[in-house]
Amino acid sequence: MTTFSPDIEAAIADTRADVARLHGELVRYGLVVWTGGNVSGRVPGADLFVIKPSGVSYDDLAPDNMILCDLEGAVIPGTAGSDRSPSSDTAAHAYVYRNMPDVGGVVHTHSTYAVAWAARGEEIPCVITGMADEFGGPIPIGPFAIIGDDSIGRGIVETLRGHRSRAVLMQNHGPFTIGVNAKDAVKAAVMCEDAARTVHLAREAGPLIPIPQDRIDALYNRYQNVYGQAGDERRDGEESR
Ligand SMILES: [Zn+2]
Repeated sequence: MTTFSPDIEAAIADTRADVARLHGELVRYGLVVWTGGNVSGRVPGADLFVIKPSGVSYDDLAPDNMILCDLEGAVIPGTAGSDRSPSSDTAAHAYVYRNMPDVGGVVHTHSTYAVAWAARGEEIPCVITGMADEFGGPIPIGPFAIIGDDSIGRGIVETLRGHRSRAVLMQNHGPFTIGVNAKDAVKAAVMCEDAARTVHLAREAGPLIPIPQDRIDALYNRYQNVYGQAGDERRDGEESR
């Protein structure tokens, strides 16, 4: 049985509850089918994160079957849920946490419209103000990478490091999103699919009108900084536009 200090145990319990609950948002927004998709959250103050078990129905996800891992993606033995395998995407999540210290949450889905852009290897152009607010520009494409080693994680980090976007569309695969915490990463996944759908539909009906870069910058800075100053509303997604 692995035990931690009372503070860390409390942080683990909070993260388990958050991550279990946030999986419901993927279902609510129609971003996942069957057992696909996964949310993880970094445990504040520890080199640990919590992630979904592999192959468990969304209806059965609960704080105690979330899986606690170290930043190498190894399951911490003797902790709740440790008798199961973690999500098959755990190595990618772990790579992001190791290499992007400010990231507190990671989400992966195969949401339909985002995957359609990924299947074409085409970034989503920034043609709506909501995208400028949320992503500060286009949503980029990451490299083609297959599961089994660090290559997905490396592709995510190489694409998103220094980029305003919190979402990357891994080519021929689908979106991975990051955030300051798990909720922020889930919000990015929801907004990414919304942008993917809207821009797809717009282009079906006619040419897209680009937003000039200085306008994108102004929208992004206003949304990220002005809204952000009154606590953390932007990250919590409570504001209206
Ligand atoms: Zn996937």
